[in-house]
Amino acid sequence: MERYDFIIVGAGPAGLFAALELAQAGKKVAIFDKGSPIEERKCPIKTGAVKNCVHCRPCAIVCGWGGAGAYSDGKLTLTPEFGGNLERTVGRQRLLDLIAEVDRTFVHFGADSPVFEPEAGYAADVIKRGRSAGLQVIPARIRHMGTDRAKRVLANFYSRLKEVCAVFTGVEVKSVLAEHNEVQGILLEDGTRVFAPAVLLAPGREGATWMERVAADLGLAVDSLPVDIGVRVEVPDEIANDLTEQFYEVKAVFDAPTFDDRVRTFCMCPHGEVVTEYQSDSGLVIVNGHSNRDRKTQNTNFAILVSTEFTQPFRDPNGYGGAIARLANMLGGTVLVQRLGDLKAGRRSTAGRIERGLVRPTLLQAEPGDLSFALPYRHLTDILEMIRALNVIMPGIDGPHTLLYGVEVKFYSLRLALDKGLQASIRGLYAAGDGAGVTRGLVQASASGLVAARDFLDRGGEGR
Ligand SMILES: Cc1cc2nc3c(=O)[nH]c(=O)nc-3n(C[C@H](O)[C@H](O)[C@H](O)COP(=O)(O)OP(=O)(O)OC[C@H]3O[C@@H](n4cnc5c(N)ncnc54)[C@H](O)[C@@H]3O)c2cc1C
Repeated sequence: MERYDFIIVGAGPAGLFAALELAQAGKKVAIFDKGSPIEERKCPIKTGAVKNCVHCRPCAIVCGWGGAGAYSDGKLTLTPEFGGNLERTVGRQRLLDLIAEVDRTFVHFGADSPVFEPEAGYAADVIKRGRSAGLQVIPARIRHMGTDRAKRVLANFYSRLKEVCAVFTGVEVKSVLAEHNEVQGILLEDGTRVFAPAVLLAPGREGATWMERVAADLGLAVDSLPVDIGVRVEVPDEIANDLTEQFYEVKAVFDAPTFDDRVRTFCMCPHGEVVTEYQSDSGLVIVNGHSNRDRKTQNTNFAILVSTEFTQPFRDPNGYGGAIARLANMLGGTVLVQRLGDLKAGRRSTAGRIERGLVRPTLLQAEPGDLSFALPYRHLTDILEMIRALNVIMPGIDGPHTLLYGVEVKFYSLRLALDKGLQASIRGLYAAGDGAGVTRGLVQASASGLVAARDFLDRGGEGR
C-alpha cells in the first residue's frame, strides 16, 4: 500500500465532502468503505430476490459508496436547527455558510430539485394550532432529491472523486494506528497497514459500535448523548397532504407531559415507503423510511422519536437502544407492525387485522405484533401523547388504523470529545458525521467533512 496525506474511513457524505476538499487542495487522499460501489448496491428485498431481510454483511441500504445517503430520502435540510449539533462546534453563521456551500455542491452534482418552504400565513396558522396542543412546529427549508435522484447525484460524485482520489470499496477498516499520541494510519481487516499523518473517521450510524471500539482502544474521551428510540408512523396521504404539500417535512417538538421527555417528529416521507435497515455490526433489523421522487405511494410515513437522558453512572446509550431493537427482533424475527387501535386496546395486531385496516402497509415484510412487548412503558406513553397532540395539526392521525412500525433507533448517541476542527485528542485523528455523534443528517454530515478537511489544511496539511 502507498502512503497518503489523508485517509478517510467511510464514503458517506462526511467522507465524500472531506475528500473533495482535500483532493482539490492537491492532497493525496484515500477513501475506504466496507460496502460496494454505488452501482452494485442492491438490497435483495428491493430486487425481489427475497421477501425478508437476509442480513447481508454489509447491508446495501446503509453501506457502500455514498453511505446511508445513497438509499436515503435525499431530503437536504437547509435549516441549521435540524440534522445535527454542528452549530455548537462552529457557531451559527459558519454553519449557515457551510449549509449554503454544501447545497451548492449537491446542486452542482445534479440535485436540481425544488426547495420546499411553507407560505408564511399557512405556517403561522399551523404553528398557532400546534402551540394549542403543546407542540412546537419549526418550519424548515428542504430540498428533496428523492431516493432515486440521490443515487444519481452520488454516482456523479464518484465520477469526479475517482479521478482525484484513491477509492477502495469492499474494504473494511479494522482499527486506527497511533503512536506517541499521533495517528500513523489504519489497519485493514486483511492485516494490511496503510499510512498517513491524518485519518478521518466517518463510519456513520452503522459504524457507531465500531467507533466505540476504536475510541476504547485508543483511550479517547467520549460523551454520552440522549438516546433516540421510537416508532415509524404510517398514514394515508390524505391525512398528511395539507401539511406536506407546504412543509414537505413537518418538524414538531413536544415535551410529553407524563415523563417530561422530549419527543419529536423525524424524517417525514410523503408518498413514501417504510424500509428496514440492517445494522451488520450489531445484527439488528430496525425501521426507517424514504420517498422516491419519481415513484410515489399512497402513504406518508415519519418517525416519532423519544429522547431520554439517563441517570449516572449509565454510559451506554447505543447499547440500550440496541437492546430494545433486539427485543422487537426477538418477537418478530424482524421489525414489528401494529395498528394504533390494537396498541391502545392492549392486543396484538394480526395479519387479518392489518388486512382489514384502512392503511395498506408499504413494508410488507414487517411482522404484525405487539409493540408493548418491546418498547418500555415510558416510551409508549410518550409516543401516544405525541400522537394525540399531532392530531391537532394532522387530523386523523390518532385514529385506530394508523400503523406503527418498531422499533426505530438512532445510533448517534456517543460523541467523541473533539476540538473546533473536529480533531480528537490524538493528533491527526479527525471524526465527523453521524458515527461521531456530530450530525444526524446529510447536510450537516457533509458540512462536518468540510470542517475536518479545512482544519487539516489550515494546520499546514499535516494534521499536527
Ligand atoms: C433509509 C434512510 C433514509 C434517510 N433519509 C435521510 C434524509 O432524507 N435526509 C437526511 O438528511 N438524512 C437522511 N438519512 C440519514 C443520512 O443518510 C445520514 O445522516 C448520513 O448519511 C450520515 O452521513 P455519514 O457520512 O456520517 O455516514 P454514512 O452515510 O452512514 O456513511 C458511513 C459509511 O462508512 C462505512 N463504514 C462504516 N464502518 C466502516 C469500517 N470499519 N470500514 C470501512 N467502512 C466503514 C459504511 O459502509 C458507510 O458507507 C437517512 C438514512 C437512512 C438509512
